[in-house]
Amino acid sequence: MTNPTEAKRILIVEDDLDISRLLKLELEETGFIVSHRDTGMRGLSAVREEKPDLVILDLGLPDMDGAEIARRVRSNTETPIIILTAKDDVATKVDLLNSGADDYLAKPFNTEELVARINVQLRRRTLGSVQKIGLLTIDPSRRQVFWEEDEVRLSPREFELLSYLATQIGRVYSREEIEENVWGEELPPSSNVVDVHIANIRGKLRDAGGFGMIRTVRGIGYAIKG
Ligand code: CA
Repeated sequence: MTNPTEAKRILIVEDDLDISRLLKLELEETGFIVSHRDTGMRGLSAVREEKPDLVILDLGLPDMDGAEIARRVRSNTETPIIILTAKDDVATKVDLLNSGADDYLAKPFNTEELVARINVQLRRRTLGSVQKIGLLTIDPSRRQVFWEEDEVRLSPREFELLSYLATQIGRVYSREEIEENVWGEELPPSSNVVDVHIANIRGKLRDAGGFGMIRTVRGIGYAIKG
């Protein structure tokens, strides 16, 4: 968990002043220190100068494509990036995540949901040092996973999910806990998105030679074997 006594700094890069003013106010009420820029270039300078803890980035800016900004931010910092998109852009979500964005939210969004997503990202950055579990290595600062010497390439969400399960080896995490801490929201009961992500992680570990790291506890959830 992020330390509640230490206010986190958030940079909003958004050209729609109605949205940014309201968002700034609401995030400040939640206890964040918030600054705002209205173009991509100003946003990039602010990332360099202010070193925010997290960037909220509008995809549709007048001067630069949001995905390009995300790439540039990611090329020299690990600052988490949440992209705001118009509904139609959600089709490009894979591109967004590949560009280095950590998460995205379609407009109009609910501030509580955004705050939950912000907290997921901030918590992830405070997880700390390299963790070794048997032959598995998780490096939170470089966001890399290895099985023995081989890198296992996980999507940002898969990485977050594996890291979350590794918080406490052997502990069984329920689907609800996983949804809340990895997705920042409870998903509909019919959703199998957690199971699908687990299957993907298992598949990628298996391709690297790793078997049986994640245990299914039927009707409850998942655990990492020590
Ligand atoms: Ca815009």
